[in-house]
Parts: sequence; structure tokens; C-alpha cells
Amino acid sequence: MTADELHSLVLTSYTLTDEDIDTLTQALAQGYLVSMMAAYREGASTVNATKDAREWEPSDKAVDEAMQWASEQAKGIAHTYEDMLTRWVQQIVEEQGTEKALWPKVSIEAQSVAAGLKAGISAFMGWKPKQVANATCGSGADDGTDALVSDMQDGTVMDASTNQAVDMTQYGVTVLPPESSSDVCKTVAGLVFDLDQYDEIIDLPAHSNCPHYKKIIQI
Ligand SMILES: [Zn+2]
Repeated sequence: MTADELHSLVLTSYTLTDEDIDTLTQALAQGYLVSMMAAYREGASTVNATKDAREWEPSDKAVDEAMQWASEQAKGIAHTYEDMLTRWVQQIVEEQGTEKALWPKVSIEAQSVAAGLKAGISAFMGWKPKQVANATCGSGADDGTDALVSDMQDGTVMDASTNQAVDMTQYGVTVLPPESSSDVCKTVAGLVFDLDQYDEIIDLPAHSNCPHYKKIIQI
């Protein structure tokens, strides 16, 4: 087997199919929308909003946008994975020397290729899904909190006790967890902002594996 043949064999055997990408898109969109809904409803309950806000659901437009976003994410993941497969094959071929890649001793070479791929794939599966899940749920939650604050700014979120628009001066937003090892998040983590400063706060998560999120609180 030549290095090129190995490369195309690995790509056809291990890359994600269109069906895999569709399944991944659905799962990502669902994770995003569920997180969005949970963040909106949790905030609505903190500000003592009426039942309709506590049972808020994303609009059809938001669902379409989530699907669009998820589809781009899924394609991006498939690309990253394909790039990594290519890199592993190159590494294995280099380790074995170029001329040796025209393998006379197929069984031995195939074993080492399989071992190399297995290690690479399990390493990828160890960190990538975690990173993607964090980015997906974090972005959904951030957008859910954005949607609630925007509705409050429009005066359409009603206080369950007074049946008037929620008094925004009674509430603020904080960024949790309060500590941060990243320079970007250090500027906001643990601080409390007035709701009229909300739009100045950075989008979260702000970086790979960023644990930060916004939480509406009483002040
Ligand atoms: Zn962060």
C-alpha cells in the first residue's frame, strides 16, 4: 500500500458521513435551544415574571437560526476531524520512513497504523465533544439571557405580583464562576452589572472551554 492509498482508505473509513453530520447538527441545535430556553426561564423566574415568560419558547426564527448555526458547527467539526486524520496518517508514514510506506510487510505495518489511528481518534474524542458541548450549551444560554433582557428592555416582561413591566432597576447581571484564568473573562467574572449596562458585557463563552455564563440576580 502506498501512502496515498492509505490516506484515502483512512478518509473513507473514518470520516463523518452526511448522515453523521445531520445527526450531529440536530443534536447541536437541540442542545443550543434547550440551553437557551432554560436560561430565559430561569431569568424570568428570578425577576418574578408571569407564567408566559416562565414558559417561554424560542421563536420559529430562533429555531431556524439555531439549525443554521448548528449545521456550520457540525461541518466545522467534520473538517477538523478530517484534518486530524490526514495529519495522523502523515505522522505514521513519516515515522515508518517514506520508502517503507510501500509496504511489503503489510500485516505489521497495518497493525501500527491501526494503533496510531486508534490513539489519535480516542484522543480527539476525549476533548472535542466536551469542547463542542460547552460552546453549544454556553452560546444557547447566553442567547437565552440576551433574549430575556431584550424583552425586559422592551417592557414586555410582566411582574407576576404587580402585572406591570418588570422594574429593571431591581435586577442586575453577574458573570459566574467568579474566578477566571483567562485575561478576557477576568474583566467580567464575578462582577455585578446594572441591566442597562448589559449590552456592554462580552458574549460568553469567550474562548475554548470557557466556563463563564451570565446570571440575572436581584440587587
Ligand atoms: Zn471564560
